[in-house]
Order: sequence, then C-alpha cells, then structure tokens
Amino acid sequence: LGPAAVEALQPGDVRALLPRPGPDAQKYTRGVVGVRAGSATYPGAALLAVGGANAGLVGMVRYVGPPETADRVRAHHPEVVGDGRVQAWVVGPGGGDDAEAMLRAARADDVPVVVDADALRHVDGPMPGCVLTPHAGELAAMTGAERSDVEASPLAHVRDAARRWDCVVLLKGHHTLVADPTGRVRATTTGVPWLATAGAGDVLSGLVGALLAAGLSPFDAASVGSWVHGAAATEAAAGGPLTASRVAVQIPQVVRETLSGL
Ligand code: AMP
Ligand code: MG
Repeated sequence: LGPAAVEALQPGDVRALLPRPGPDAQKYTRGVVGVRAGSATYPGAALLAVGGANAGLVGMVRYVGPPETADRVRAHHPEVVGDGRVQAWVVGPGGGDDAEAMLRAARADDVPVVVDADALRHVDGPMPGCVLTPHAGELAAMTGAERSDVEASPLAHVRDAARRWDCVVLLKGHHTLVADPTGRVRATTTGVPWLATAGAGDVLSGLVGALLAAGLSPFDAASVGSWVHGAAATEAAAGGPLTASRVAVQIPQVVRETLSGL
C-alpha cells in the first residue's frame, strides 16, 4: 500500500484499539477529558459534546463553560465535574464568540485538543498532537477554498490540511476521512445519512476527545471515534430517523458489541 491508499478500519481493528480498563484501573488512570463548549445561545451543543465524552470510555469528564450552561450539563450528566487537570480537551461546539478564549485556555495546558465548530476559525498555526474536526464548509472557511471544491475532492483537501496544520484532520460528511500529517488516511464506512442532523458533530468531538484522554493516538482516536459514532448512528437509526442525543446514548452498546466481537 502506497501513501495514496485509503485505509478502512475493520471491527477487529477497533476492538484492539478501544480502551479497556484493567483490573487495577482507577478513574484517573483511565483518563480525564475536559469539554469547553456551549454558550447562552447554544447550550445544547455543550450537552451533546459532553454526551459524546461521557459514554463510559474514560474515568472522568470535566466541563467548563458559562454557569447557566454548566447547570444544564450537570442536570443531564450528573457524573460531570468542573475544571481541573485533564489528559485532553474538546473545544468549540456552540462556543460562539467565546470559542477563541476556549481554544486559548485549552492550549495553555500541554495536552491534545479536539478543535471543532466555532473554534476552528481561530486555528492560526501548527497544532501538533491535536485533532481538527471540520465539515466541508468549516474546512473551506479555514483555507479560503470553495466549499464545493472541498466536497469535490475531500481526499486532497484533508491531506493538505493535515500537512498544513501538522495534526490529524477529520473531515466530516457523507464519507468521513481522517488524515495525519504524513499523508495516511482512514475512511469511515459505518455511518448513515440520517446522521446529517443538528448536533451530530458535537457528539463526535466529545467522543474523539474521550478516546484521546484514554490514551489513543490522535489518528486512532479520530478514526475509532468516527467509526463508533457512525455505528452508533446506524444502530440508533435502525433504518429510520435519528437525533444527536440518541447517537450519544447508543455509544456504550456499540462499544459492548465491538469488544465482544458481535
Ligand atoms: P456536524 O456538521 O458538525 O453537525 O457533523 C455532522 C455529522 O453527521 C458528522 O459526523 C458527519 O460525518 C455526519 N454526516 C453528515 N452528512 C452525512 C451523510 N450524508 N451521511 C453520513 N453521515 C453524514
Ligand atoms: Mg458541527
């Protein structure tokens, strides 16, 4: 396989890569993920990103955001705690005007960051160790390309972006592609068009952040996260309509089935 080849994860690959607590596991050793997302205008994005992060794949989830949003996050996710040390940050969903400050705060810690949504506009240089999760419109806005050009040749655009920002780029869409700076690419084949629904991307960024915090490499976290997210959507949809909240609650079942080889 040359550098131009696109890989697809198989269930056995995902099984081998998924985090699994050993007998001596503690919540801190399983990884702690932090989410900086949501605003007065978009509180739901915070709940959905936390939903993807709080699917049981890490030992703890932290949330940092406006007080009213934090109240709502805690009401929906009683496990979630406040600011503190994390092994990875998720930044941007529903951040609006706060997204720039969210990104700056996350980058002040020396840990990998999943950069999504409004925070993508504030990426201004190399982001080694991080994961960017744009859809075609967001990637176009970052590079100055036309959205239609990104949609017409997503492989070339995602490879260029990964090289340009020296990090993993997950380009979302009908076919999701994950590229690393060396040109390696994995395509996700597990999704379903019902996933084209508000908030679906927020769940994905939370999930990828959790996998990073659990110790997966950025390339594995992004591609395994996308695989699990697509599989959760396909199961939850079961041939019919879907909401993003429903995708998040399906994640543990997909992990269960994948770990047991179903
Ligand atoms: P966002 O645009 O941030 O809400 O993310 C949308 C999510 O839905 C991403 O995970 C996309 O990969 C997924 N998605 C969007 N359109 C489609 C489609 N036509 N088929 C499958 N997945 C899709
Ligand atoms: Mg989005």
